[in-house]
Amino acid sequence: MKKFSKLIFIALSGTIMALSMVGCGSKSEQPESSNEQQAEGNSQETNESVVKVGVLLYKFDDTYISTVRQSLEKIQKENGGKVEFSFFDGKGDQATQNDSIDTLLQKGTDVLLVNLVDTGAGQTVVDKIKAADKPVVFFNREPAADVIKSYDKAVFVGTNAKEAGILQGNILSGLWEKDKANIDTNGDGKMQYVMLQGEPDNPEAVARTEYSVSTIKEKGIEVEELAKQVCNWDQALAQNATEAWVSKFGDGIEVVIANNDGMAQGAIAALQAQGFNNGEGSKTIPVVGVDATAAAQDLIDKGYMAGSVLQDAEGMAKALYSTGMNLAQGKNAIEETEYTFDETGVAVRIPYQEYTK
Ligand code: CA
Repeated sequence: MKKFSKLIFIALSGTIMALSMVGCGSKSEQPESSNEQQAEGNSQETNESVVKVGVLLYKFDDTYISTVRQSLEKIQKENGGKVEFSFFDGKGDQATQNDSIDTLLQKGTDVLLVNLVDTGAGQTVVDKIKAADKPVVFFNREPAADVIKSYDKAVFVGTNAKEAGILQGNILSGLWEKDKANIDTNGDGKMQYVMLQGEPDNPEAVARTEYSVSTIKEKGIEVEELAKQVCNWDQALAQNATEAWVSKFGDGIEVVIANNDGMAQGAIAALQAQGFNNGEGSKTIPVVGVDATAAAQDLIDKGYMAGSVLQDAEGMAKALYSTGMNLAQGKNAIEETEYTFDETGVAVRIPYQEYTK
């Protein structure tokens, strides 16, 4: 199913890319533009008052990020003529993203929205953008606060990394309290878990890993880590890891904690292959993820997955639009908005929500 939608997505991207290539001549590096006028040709008059926004995404092929992108496209449609987003695919490679930023700065843009590939590359990126004197909103993948603070036209919009982990912990401790007899398979009163971690140094991944477990402990539930593996947010890697764990521990695995839904999906596929989490009398091992992707919502609705944590993609797009437009017009990023900065004075936090059946 996922592969299928990915194929459609690639096919669609190709069409849009082809259209924009036709319209924009022979230059090899063209952004995918959601603006039909631009896609259809340069001959049409450009509106001077349109705010041009370059959107650098860490990769198009990420469920949450592609939902943010669709939400931005919707905002563009709803605010016809006010804003024009151009999207660039970082393809999971910081060098590719850096090239796109260079191209964009040369071509001219009013503001940049940057979803870093490598959060450690923040300073290099901010220095480039600062040299061109353009405002920038970093989002989702968070560079160090000092990096943002090093440029007065830079802000960050993201979530509170701890919060996703805390909500995962709440879901699992809630289930334990309700259904301990079924979850505590070996009856030792401890919750034996396996952990699927995103990236080793990604602050979101680290915080989710830490706070999911510490929240369960804070509720007075003892825990034991059977295994932990870094799977780079990847479904297939998580499936492999879980397959190995199921062969080793069987139903000794009492819960599965994944830093995102992609990995949770992989874990569920591995569990299902071994006769778990199929519904209708098979044992269900609670699996939690983060993102509340469409695929995860489907698994949760069917009872194969315990829960997820919703990153509000539409809320993120709205915040990016409001702060980006303000910066492009030389205003303070949060002026006349519903947003406030956190204690760093440069970051806006969009709240997470629990997603369960
Ligand atoms: Ca146990």
